[in-house]
Amino acid sequence: MSEASREGPSPRHVGEPDRLADSVATLSAVVERDEWPRDLPRSGEGTDPGIPVWSLPVEVVGFSGLVEGRTTGGCVACQASSCGGWQIGVRWETGQLMHLCSRGWTYDPETRSIRMTAGTGLSTTTATDRPNTRKPPPPRSEWPSRSRLGPSWNA
Ligand SMILES: [Zn+2]
Repeated sequence: MSEASREGPSPRHVGEPDRLADSVATLSAVVERDEWPRDLPRSGEGTDPGIPVWSLPVEVVGFSGLVEGRTTGGCVACQASSCGGWQIGVRWETGQLMHLCSRGWTYDPETRSIRMTAGTGLSTTTATDRPNTRKPPPPRSEWPSRSRLGPSWNA
């Protein structure tokens, strides 16, 4: 008897319509892909590796300012289903590897560098993007030495 009285809306039941709505939205969404970021070199499947990238202001223990990164060369269509941007791979000097949506940065051909314009710290993630890259940077003392940041930093 007490079992029956517990029936009704439970978190599991409440969640089902949302999941269904999500998958329907994904299937029916027609995202118009943005044009390739203006002046950004295009090579292979993505862009050139080793292009300098500058974050938005970051405050961590032992560091305050803009974090420097390098493009890995990789590039994919933005993983956010409703976004038409391009995501480029970036290896930050913090050691973190992230994918930054072109709707959150601009490329400056004069300095041949990328500057973030939207998002938080190292992440261009916005309300339309998935929250999988919102990891805060580690304290300065935990950043690897530059020689250990990999090929995009040694190009
Ligand atoms: Zn995006």
